[in-house]
Amino acid sequence: MLKKLIPRLQVNTIYDIDLEALRKQGYRGIITDLDNTLVGAKAPLATPELTAWLKRVGEAGFQVVIVSNNERNRVSRFAEPLSIPFIYRAKKPTSAAFRRALRMMNLSAKETVVIGDQMLTDVLGGNRLGLYTILVLPISRADEGFFTKVNRRLEKAALTLMKR
Ligand SMILES: [Mg+2]
Repeated sequence: MLKKLIPRLQVNTIYDIDLEALRKQGYRGIITDLDNTLVGAKAPLATPELTAWLKRVGEAGFQVVIVSNNERNRVSRFAEPLSIPFIYRAKKPTSAAFRRALRMMNLSAKETVVIGDQMLTDVLGGNRLGLYTILVLPISRADEGFFTKVNRRLEKAALTLMKR
């Protein structure tokens, strides 16, 4: 269980991800978290920097689906202006939403990466299905909700256990 919390790759931000390298390794799809991965949890819309990055992602030949545990309104308001498909109330780390995202892209687990800022939802869920998992640092810790704060404490405890 603890091993499943470890991401395949750890970077500071999505902008540090080497898209070309992923492409060469055969990856074609990106399942990405929204809050604190793409923008801060309280930021309603994409930043110009993010919009430019998403454009590059598309040009590099990747499909993208946003998979978020957040509510419909938050996710749709963010994703619809970008014309990116999304799944809300995803109940990560359970598998259903990840599988659905793979079906939406018509890709297999082996062709898809998961990007997120939480080990207990994004990384655990992705690893369980054999997706390539990338952990980013959370964009803004200040805006996090109660459950995310609890998850952070559990992440810390898991890391401490793993270091033993
Ligand atoms: Mg998040």
